Amino acid sequence: MKLYKENQLKIYNSLSKTKEAFKPVHDGHIGMYVCGPTVYSNAHLGNLRTFMFFDVAFRYFLHLGYKVRYVRNITDAGHLENDADEGEDRIAKKARLEEIEPMEVVQRYTVDFHDVLKKYNFLSPSIEPTATGHIVEQIEMIKEIIDKGLGYEVNGSVYFDVIAYNKNNHYGILSGRKIEDAIHNTRVLDGQSDKKNPQDFALWKKADERHIMRWPSPWSEGFPGWHLECSVMSSKYLGDKFDIHGGGLDLKFPHHECEIAQSKTCSGHDPVNYWMHTNMLLLNGQKMAKSTGNFILPDEILTGENKILSKAFSSSVVRFFNMQANYRSILDFSSDALEASEKGYLKLMEAMTSLVSLSSQKSSSVDISQWKEKCYAAMNDDFNTPVLISHLFEGVKFINQIKEGKASITSNDLVDFVTTMNAFVFDVLGLLNDVKDQSSGKIDGVVSLLIKLRKEARENKDWDLSDQIRDELLAIGIQLKDGREGTTYSIS
Ligand code: AMP
Ligand code: ZN
Repeated sequence: MKLYKENQLKIYNSLSKTKEAFKPVHDGHIGMYVCGPTVYSNAHLGNLRTFMFFDVAFRYFLHLGYKVRYVRNITDAGHLENDADEGEDRIAKKARLEEIEPMEVVQRYTVDFHDVLKKYNFLSPSIEPTATGHIVEQIEMIKEIIDKGLGYEVNGSVYFDVIAYNKNNHYGILSGRKIEDAIHNTRVLDGQSDKKNPQDFALWKKADERHIMRWPSPWSEGFPGWHLECSVMSSKYLGDKFDIHGGGLDLKFPHHECEIAQSKTCSGHDPVNYWMHTNMLLLNGQKMAKSTGNFILPDEILTGENKILSKAFSSSVVRFFNMQANYRSILDFSSDALEASEKGYLKLMEAMTSLVSLSSQKSSSVDISQWKEKCYAAMNDDFNTPVLISHLFEGVKFINQIKEGKASITSNDLVDFVTTMNAFVFDVLGLLNDVKDQSSGKIDGVVSLLIKLRKEARENKDWDLSDQIRDELLAIGIQLKDGREGTTYSIS
């Protein structure tokens, strides 16, 4: 039986502002869309926090046995400098400054993004579509919005009529903004905008002569508005009604509010059942953000090359640090906080290494089934990873007690315990056991020492000791090979 049948997941829905029982559109299937990166610079640790949370949610859905289609886009056009409808395209600007093609910028930072995700042990999404790969579909959606009477053209640009939409719908349903406050354009104040109302947002922008990223359309040679790509790609790959849409809290307005308006105009209904938003990672008390220079890069963590850091940390320590906080809470980054997480992480990994060599007894003094239930209950409660981690540490206590003979476990319970610990620690949280790697480093150190002692024994013509070292290592599966460069070894 699939695990999801016995696990009623609750998800905090940003739309209703309550935790709701999760019911997928199609039984046993989940469609999830997460707004991906704008590839004009390296993803920072704040971006990673958001993507990492959704990676863990994805992992948990898979663990529960759901068939998941996880779509995370790449924004490679249309995201202007100020998040509203003015300014230069972020990618085009970078290309101009670096004197390269916009697509070179896109390629460089998409590759970097994938490299980082690999180092941080992310699962790949099922589909990773790009905005520039869906220009035709975006033009079609604009036509549909115009046909429905909610899009209008001025001087080659097309805008969404928020005031008209709001007559029969609720613009602000997600962000809680009042229509009079939901103003997108700053330049409207000095009367330069083509928009009918300052609340309206761009669906298509006519490119001025400086703008390199441009495509033909019925209205002008130009480029799509930023919000459009997500409405287009989510409905293309997940249908016009799907389960989960995620992103950072800063995307609620205007991005997600506009997505709802566009999609609902076309389909006639709300596009998403559960809106999920992650809270911000802070550095020095401020949101970690590229634009303010207040950020740290994932690669800097791995090398320790940033003056904020006392040393290098592994990617799993960062994962553990992120998962120790609830995704809906603000999280403060600091080197001290990472060091504290590292201690906890190492303790957990040492226990995971011991777990495999525990032996069973005739009876159990630990209640594994109750403990297991608590682990699932934590994740079922809106992915409460900090509570899950506290239960995993109860598991660590069991491991140490059993190891020291202060507690016992039957073989059936042990199988259940090992399976559950492994599932949550490695499959769901996505941690890697660096301690295991360290222990293989220790083996290397010990064998190298024995090779050195054997060399000394041979130099002293102590053939007995030299043979004894070789034979005893062989007996435990470590074979020494003498060559011109010295002695090497292999483990069978
Ligand atoms: P961007 O590349 O700017 O479009 O951002 C990619 C994702 O990272 C979005 O979901 C943002 O909401 C999220 N994000 C940006 N800054 C932070 C931060 N400091 N903490 C958490 N998430 C963030
Ligand atoms: Zn988006």
